Amino acid sequence: MTHSFDVIVIGGGILGTSISYFLSFLNKSKKIAVIEQAHNVAFHTSGRNTGKVHAPYLYNPEKKKLFAKSSFRGYEMWETYAKLKKLPFKKDGVIEVALDEKGINVLEKYLRWGKQNGLEDNSIELFNKEEMKKIEPEIKCESALCVYKDASTDYSLLTNSIMKDSKESGTTFLLDTRVTKIEKEKDRWTITLNDDHKIYAKFLINAAGGESVDIAHDVGVAKKVTDVHFRGEYWKTPKEYNNLTKSSVYSVPEFPEYPFLDPHWILRVDGSCEIGPNAVPVFSPYGYDKIENIKEFIPKMLEMLGSGARKAIFDKQFQELVMNEIQSSMSKTTMVNRVKKFLPKIEADKITEKGTAGIRSSIIDENGKFVPDVIQIDDEASFHILNYNSPGATGALPFAAHIVNHLNEKGLFRCEDLQAQCGPWKFNEIIEKIK
Ligand SMILES: Cc1cc2nc3c(=O)[nH]c(=O)nc-3n(C[C@H](O)[C@H](O)[C@H](O)COP(=O)(O)OP(=O)(O)OC[C@H]3O[C@@H](n4cnc5c(N)ncnc54)[C@H](O)[C@@H]3O)c2cc1C
Repeated sequence: MTHSFDVIVIGGGILGTSISYFLSFLNKSKKIAVIEQAHNVAFHTSGRNTGKVHAPYLYNPEKKKLFAKSSFRGYEMWETYAKLKKLPFKKDGVIEVALDEKGINVLEKYLRWGKQNGLEDNSIELFNKEEMKKIEPEIKCESALCVYKDASTDYSLLTNSIMKDSKESGTTFLLDTRVTKIEKEKDRWTITLNDDHKIYAKFLINAAGGESVDIAHDVGVAKKVTDVHFRGEYWKTPKEYNNLTKSSVYSVPEFPEYPFLDPHWILRVDGSCEIGPNAVPVFSPYGYDKIENIKEFIPKMLEMLGSGARKAIFDKQFQELVMNEIQSSMSKTTMVNRVKKFLPKIEADKITEKGTAGIRSSIIDENGKFVPDVIQIDDEASFHILNYNSPGATGALPFAAHIVNHLNEKGLFRCEDLQAQCGPWKFNEIIEKIK
């Protein structure tokens, strides 16, 4: 096996895999590797999400411009890619409902944002209560935003296919391989794998999802921020509910500054339906079960108490929201009731099977505030992506292209051919569209 690489990407989620995809097409003579501790790519958050290809109406066009553009272009790119590879992609739309006057004002703002972010008039429409009754008779609301340019897919299948293409284009994927130590020598990184053997890299890209902050801290960057992990749980609903609505249904989030969206009514790409996710605080990015959470409880609490997260923990509003989420985890009925508010037909008794939970890692700054946007950090021979949250899967391809272009422009990692054809897209054309 080669032991020296030009660039190593830590993390085989949808982001790290997409970055390797563009790097490999643009740099035919360079050695690129992705290191992933799980036995497959997209094993964690990228394969455990709601599976929505989101339209960019939730994102402030000024404050979250790049995310909004990535989401807009991501939709088109995944649609093209899924068609090419014969992978599932269903344009089933999303409905955002308002249950009161305050919510209606938010929907009006989302309509504006959606259009400013590129959605055309025939992709997004606002309806009143009476109109909605005719469109979706089972939904109870005061008003709703129907967004037609929104779809369902399977991000695990998409990431696996991107990995296959990236491999064919020259990337080495080291699976079942954990980065356990990173050391910087003069002009290269020495990376210890599985506490066992070493490999070397000129440049390092940290796309490690829930561990990206730990890796950044290990190499001495982003010292002032920390992260908090939230487990999003789902319930599968019985077949008799599969045709209750034609689209997935989200409700206007009451506290958008916190990472708690109320659970949605979800149409999966295979036609099944689910309720979720909630956002239960856990102590590890892999805290799917009690064993992992108990193991990580003390170290994570100590880390949080010694950082800005301490302020969030003692914030009354945050505590209330957390209690609400914990209740929705302990009681299925509480969780179902949160969706029942806008879909009264569903009955908790009929819902018996849990779905697959996924974990979101949100960054908290030194003032105890949740950071709303993705954090990108340039370092001398490394690049770090922190807080890469929703709609991260939707935007992964254009966002990955943006990162590769950024590294080239800054001279951090020069690419050989920016005109290269990357599967169905020309790289420079992607960049033009997200600028
Ligand atoms: C409940 C939930 C629902 C969501 N729904 C949607 C949705 O519907 N649509 C959407 O667009 N987005 C959604 N998102 C967001 C989206 O899933 C994420 O933004 C995206 O998956 C993040 O991808 P990633 O590659 O950065 O992270 P990850 O998928 O977490 O990948 C990081 C990888 O790094 C690996 N890693 C970490 N440390 C190491 C190490 N030391 N050595 C080796 N490997 C390491 C991990 O094993 C992991 O596989 C959702 C998120 C959650 C939590």
